[in-house]
Amino acid sequence: ESSNMNARNSLSGRADQRGIDYFSSFDWSGELKKRMKRVFGFDSFRLCQEGICNASMDNRDVIAVMPTGGGKSLTYQLPALLCPGTTLVISPLISLITDQILHLHEAGIEACMLTGSASKEEQRSTLQRMTPKATNGRRISAVDGQADGEIKLVYVTPEKIAKSKSFLSVLQKMEKAGTLARIVIDEAHCVSQLGHDFRPDYQKLSILRQLFPNVPILALSATCPPNVLKDLLKVLKMDACVDGNNAPAKGTVYFSSPLYRENLHYKVVPKPASSAAVIETMCNYILENHKDETGIVYCLSKKDAETVAAGLVETSNGKIKTGVYHADIPDARKEELHRRWRKGEVKVVCATIAFGLGIDKGDVRFILHHSMSKSLDGYYQETGRAGRDGKDSDCILYTRNAGDFSRLSSLVCGEKEGQSKLHDMLRFSQDLTECRKIQFAKYFSASSSLSVSVWSKDGSEDLTRCGHCDNCARKPDQLDHNKDVTLETWKILKVSEFIKEEGGRATLGILADLVRGAAGGSFEANPLGGKGRAKEKITLDLDTLCGGKIELHKEDVESLLINLLLLGYLEEEYYSTAYAINVYLVPGPQALRLSRLSIQDLQSNTAISIRMTFEKREKRRKSAGGGKVKQAKTAEFVPPTRNRTTSASTSKGKGKPISDLR
Ligand code: ADP
Ligand code: MG
Repeated sequence: ESSNMNARNSLSGRADQRGIDYFSSFDWSGELKKRMKRVFGFDSFRLCQEGICNASMDNRDVIAVMPTGGGKSLTYQLPALLCPGTTLVISPLISLITDQILHLHEAGIEACMLTGSASKEEQRSTLQRMTPKATNGRRISAVDGQADGEIKLVYVTPEKIAKSKSFLSVLQKMEKAGTLARIVIDEAHCVSQLGHDFRPDYQKLSILRQLFPNVPILALSATCPPNVLKDLLKVLKMDACVDGNNAPAKGTVYFSSPLYRENLHYKVVPKPASSAAVIETMCNYILENHKDETGIVYCLSKKDAETVAAGLVETSNGKIKTGVYHADIPDARKEELHRRWRKGEVKVVCATIAFGLGIDKGDVRFILHHSMSKSLDGYYQETGRAGRDGKDSDCILYTRNAGDFSRLSSLVCGEKEGQSKLHDMLRFSQDLTECRKIQFAKYFSASSSLSVSVWSKDGSEDLTRCGHCDNCARKPDQLDHNKDVTLETWKILKVSEFIKEEGGRATLGILADLVRGAAGGSFEANPLGGKGRAKEKITLDLDTLCGGKIELHKEDVESLLINLLLLGYLEEEYYSTAYAINVYLVPGPQALRLSRLSIQDLQSNTAISIRMTFEKREKRRKSAGGGKVKQAKTAEFVPPTRNRTTSASTSKGKGKPISDLR
């Protein structure tokens, strides 16, 4: 630690023995700051910007993780201006590129794009300008270090790298002539299948390092947890990471900034049982807290997005002006929506995750999640679209364990590490005590998997509570702390094992009903029929099986079931039908430890104790709309019923084609 301090304080920037401190002064530092002020109008660097610029100027490979809105663009635009040659920028969306080019042209910077939205003529002329002339002895003007008329930044989508041989051959000529200064990969997490927004064309970027071994790569992202980072290095064929403030001469220089954004107020709120009540709750919330303000409601499916948009208009008597955005909306209508949204004619966009990367609206005051996201990466990125102007904004996750779990679980089961990513999301939404900021920090912290200490300009990872999320605001007397649920767990396992032995299957919702003695107390053995066995109803005798039902509220049992899943006492089992993949809960790898005990053993055994914190029921109703919000009448929590809308096996959860999701 003390060596870090020394390196940071050394003015040379190249302390002997120690690595290079990219946050110190370099030959180009004065010029860098002058140009930042003159061209971009900024007085000082933010977060890791200076370190990233310095490492880039030093021709290093760099991976930089900075929060959304943190200012990643400057970290390559500024060095591009100071270095001779052209910087190639790979960005996922044409709309993002168009936006950037516009800003750069306003600042008087030579920037071009080679995408479908540029005319053939423009593209031809750009390529021609990029191609080094045979006689090129790089005429560098003394004034600003660039050859006359040289293009400083060229933007492409990854498709261009994957599909255009002629473009690659121009790049190769540039490399030979020394005019390809740097390759920037924006939204670099799209490279990895483990990230939340994998794009196959991004994976093809692996050829860049092969083709251009000597051109430095700068990879940028806002969401790069350790597993994604590792994968990213592998796919892009980059060397292992080294510290940005103490970097040896070799290796990819790694920078990360705290991802915490002070102006975002996170809250997880239980979701009412009926879909009408959910809309009413959201409607009340918006009208009472964000009337006439801009927001996004993220929904799991296209159909949800449409239903919620229509529902909000109807319930608010037209007071909330909504729009719908998902993959099936024709491009012309998407553009129109973007335009109307910017102009403020549409206030609340109800969307699937297709509404994402291209959004650059500063005054998004709230992000509501109608269902939880498939991963915490996705959730962080989606909520990151709020408050880019720095003003206070709310991020509210409406969730109902059984329903969200069943739908999401059947969706992610085919995805790489889909299940464990969903578990991380569930862990976050289930947590009633740990500060949301700390949860994010722990999840995204790379220190655990890298051999480098994560360090940023702001100091090391700050693990003090944020003080303004739902868990920080919750008073201790609103919770039943560490309630012993060992007996309840044991009963659940007994029931679950019995169902399995009898050839039955229980979704989370059904299992919650059965252990509480609800749902008629019977289940279907061989529920899918077939194989010569008829469906058969089997009645549970809870008294004989496990000494009686569980005396907990339905929602608490559902939460407990999710926790047992996260702990490995239960696990998912998937069955696909012609229409959908259904998810059932069965005893997991930890189950036997507990279920092999008799009920008498259980009372004397102190080795296994399962504890869980619940929200006190009487407090819950008050807090349910997210603080100031009145709970809609219909939104009361369901008494135990046979209502199975939450289970994956009912018509609501099933038959949802995967294509409905964007
Ligand atoms: P990111 O790509 O990290 O999401 P952007 O590069 O789009 O963020 O920058 C977000 C906003 O921050 C932009 O409006 C940009 O002009 C502004 N910005 C970037 N760097 C600075 C700085 N050093 N000082 C002030 N504003 C900055
Ligand atoms: Mg960006």
